[in-house]
Amino acid sequence: MRPTRRDVSVRRGVLAAATISAAVAVAAPAGAVPGGDVPPVSPQAAAAGFVDVRTVVPDAVIDLRYATPHNFVGVPLYPADARCLVHESMAPGLAKAADELRAQGDVLVFWDCYRPHDVQVRMFDAVPNPAWVAKPGPYARSHEAGRSVDVTIAERGQLVDMGTDFDDFSARATAYATDGVSAAAQANRARLRTAMGAGGQERSDPGNGSGGLAVYSGEWWHFDGPGAGVQRPILDVPID
Ligand SMILES: [Zn+2]
Repeated sequence: MRPTRRDVSVRRGVLAAATISAAVAVAAPAGAVPGGDVPPVSPQAAAAGFVDVRTVVPDAVIDLRYATPHNFVGVPLYPADARCLVHESMAPGLAKAADELRAQGDVLVFWDCYRPHDVQVRMFDAVPNPAWVAKPGPYARSHEAGRSVDVTIAERGQLVDMGTDFDDFSARATAYATDGVSAAAQANRARLRTAMGAGGQERSDPGNGSGGLAVYSGEWWHFDGPGAGVQRPILDVPID
């Protein structure tokens, strides 16, 4: 589904807001003990094997777009205090990615992590195109299983140029797009893919990977962890 003109103008506003919020978060004092200030996850989240990503990547910038109106649906889909929960199988790959970026002076920015099933249903109702929004099914996989994340890179408090904003439903948002994507943005996307894949081979052994996170070719910001594509029972885990 092509975006309407109104959608595009909304997204431009979103980019500015995200840049500012990322800058504020990155400017916060560093040196926190890993996971030291992070409250424990809910019993349901713990039972599902979920961890708060801040215990894995202590310098992560958490900017959950779906907890704000600044998303393609236009209204908050998560509670304001939603947190970035991921399945523990993503932890080694995310830690390695953050290490690699940190050595370059950069930090990971998380736009989305675990996504409750009812939110996926609302998203598909808003954009019923499976090329851009996963069609909800009778099982959980990817974000619904806490095994995929939407991320970008912040450098000196600013989001790097990736060529499009988050949830830009255009061909330029595909991971390996070249038309309309500057050489610098293509290089930044490659840098993100390299860092996210640092934990091991991508896609070589789906469901039993060594920890590396693989980009979804349809969206430069979406990365799947080990076993992300496996169909699992739908979860009922609160996101806050
Ligand atoms: Zn995603």
